[in-house]
Amino acid sequence: MTTLRAGSATDVGQVRSNNQDSLFLAEAETLYGVADGMGGHQGGEVASAMAVELVERHATERTLDSLRQAVRVANRAIFEKAGADRDLHGMGTTLVALRVVDGPDGDEIAWVNVGDSRVYLLRDDKLIQLSHDHSLVEDLLRDGQLTEDEAAVHPQRNILTRALGIDLDVQVDGATVLPFTGDRFLLCSDGLFNEVSSDQMASVLRRLADPGEAASELVRLANEGGGRDNITVVVVDVVDDGGRSAAASALMAADASRLVSPGPEADPTAVPAEPPAEEELFAGRRSSLPVATDDYGAEVDDPFGELDHARTRRITWRVLAFVVLLLLVLGVVVGAIGWSASKTYFVTFEGDRVAVFRGQPGGVLFFDPQLEDTTEITRDEVPPAIRPAIEAGKEFGSRSAADRYLINLQTQVDDAIAATSTTTSTSTSTSTTAPATTAPPTTAAPTTVP
Ligand code: MN
Repeated sequence: MTTLRAGSATDVGQVRSNNQDSLFLAEAETLYGVADGMGGHQGGEVASAMAVELVERHATERTLDSLRQAVRVANRAIFEKAGADRDLHGMGTTLVALRVVDGPDGDEIAWVNVGDSRVYLLRDDKLIQLSHDHSLVEDLLRDGQLTEDEAAVHPQRNILTRALGIDLDVQVDGATVLPFTGDRFLLCSDGLFNEVSSDQMASVLRRLADPGEAASELVRLANEGGGRDNITVVVVDVVDDGGRSAAASALMAADASRLVSPGPEADPTAVPAEPPAEEELFAGRRSSLPVATDDYGAEVDDPFGELDHARTRRITWRVLAFVVLLLLVLGVVVGAIGWSASKTYFVTFEGDRVAVFRGQPGGVLFFDPQLEDTTEITRDEVPPAIRPAIEAGKEFGSRSAADRYLINLQTQVDDAIAATSTTTSTSTSTSTTAPATTAPPTTAAPTTVP
């Protein structure tokens, strides 16, 4: 049985005239959330209030799916209200929420996200951002078009790519995390992290044990930092994980192999919401998921197992999980290479004719080039200057680029043929009446035939 304790704080900030953020702490249902509304007049307030109210009402089951479904219900209700009420037209809201759900090996914490409010987890004094923002800036970051520093001050960092109330349906991000005593979850609107660095946030969360005090201090810092937006913070502490961490540390103490545990970059907290198909290899042993394999994931397989058996089992699972992870990574790499190879085209000779292939000259790994099309252009017709390049294979990023090249080549070939014909015609047409210079090359050519 997991026990949580939560505290919260919200403030209008230093600049705005009203607070369009909403939050909820439904202790009995272990359900917590933050919503950041937007839209003129009262729209933002209405949207965020509707989001928290409807999610609280509809997340009735202890599952991630139920939480997701509740967010979709809220989305549709906000969307319909925005369409029906002129004053509320265009309103929308972000939403982050978490709750305790039933996992295969006991309680888990499920979280969901739409928009740019965030869910963080402080574990072992390290602050990890669990959710990804649905914002323009996040997209640019992911594409490598912005650095973290540039993103933090980007003038359009409030532009969302996803929110509740904007469309009839919405895609809801979410996942589950195995809770351990001492874990501290932070839900917040962008008014916090746009004013307070994650180092500052982590330091407050480490320093102040009371969740309410920590939340208030974070809001105070955001105001001190400028308070240019509404600020809302919910801090949720795992005060009891039902003995999971006690069992885990007992196993760890008995386990010499932890010395070679994965590096600090490995995210121990992620248990995918929808497990990949590879999981079936393990006949439903969900705790063997490749991502949850280190000091947190492996133990929950059977936290109350005998210590004698723990060590061998742990090593076996770790080796197995490592192999699966390796295969997954390999699969992704091979897939990516194959994918990129299949996206390129090249032009070369196929027998005596110019042809288009899909892939790369000579192939990549075991991805052989595929013949796409053979043209009418023969090797002899190709101007000698271009021949070596085509021989080697001329590469293009797309089929249309390759086609454009072939059209150009065809034109050059035609021109070359026409040129030789007109040369012949001028040399022989001195006796004919029509001056060769006035006739276009293409029409001049046939006159020489008879
Ligand atoms: Mn905001």
